Amino acid sequence: MRDDEMEVAVKVVIVGNGAVGKSSMIQRYCRGTFTREYKKTIGVDFLERMLEVYDDPVRLMLWDTAGQEEFDAITKAYYRGAQACVLTFSTVDRASFQAVRNWKKKVEDECGTIPMVLVQNKIDLIDRAAIDAEEAEALARELKVRLYRSSVKEDLNVSQVFTYLAERYLAEL
Ligand code: GDP
Repeated sequence: MRDDEMEVAVKVVIVGNGAVGKSSMIQRYCRGTFTREYKKTIGVDFLERMLEVYDDPVRLMLWDTAGQEEFDAITKAYYRGAQACVLTFSTVDRASFQAVRNWKKKVEDECGTIPMVLVQNKIDLIDRAAIDAEEAEALARELKVRLYRSSVKEDLNVSQVFTYLAERYLAEL
C-alpha cells in the first residue's frame, strides 16, 4: 500500500431469519471452516477478511446477529454505521424467504440506502426446495438487488457474494 492510500474498511451486516446460515457464511468466508452444529455463533461481534478490489485493499468486517433475530431484539449497535448488507434466506425455509422484504426494510430504516445483495443459501438442498427459482428471481427484481445462490456447506458462491458487495460499495464511494 502506498502512503497516500487509505485502507477502506466496510461494516457489513448479514441479516435473515434464524438458521438460514448467516453465522456459517461468516465463518466460511473469514475462517474457511464449516460445522453442522446449529447456533454455533461466532462469539465475537464480527469477523474480518481482507480482499483486493481493483488493486485496492479492502477490509470487510462481517457482523453476526449472534442469534438476536430469534427474539426480534437486534440492537441498534448491530446496525450502527453499517455500509453494506447481505439479505439471506434458506432454500428449504419458505418463511425465511417471505421475511426478506421485512429484513430489507429494517436495515433501510436503521442505515438508509446501502449496497445490498440477496443470497439464497443451502442450494445443496435444492431437491427439497421450498421456493421456485422464478420466485426468487422475481423477488430480486422487485427489491432491485442481485441474487446469488450459495452453499456455505459446499463452499459455493460465498466469496463471490462478498467480492460483489465490496465492488458495489467502492463504486458508490
Ligand atoms: P444462522 O442462525 O442464520 O446464523 O444459521 P447457522 O449459520 O447457525 O446455520 C444453521 C444450520 O444450517 C447449521 O446447522 C449449519 O450447519 C447449516 N447450514 C448453513 N449453511 C448451509 C448450507 O449451505 N447447506 C446446508 N445443507 N446446511 C447449511
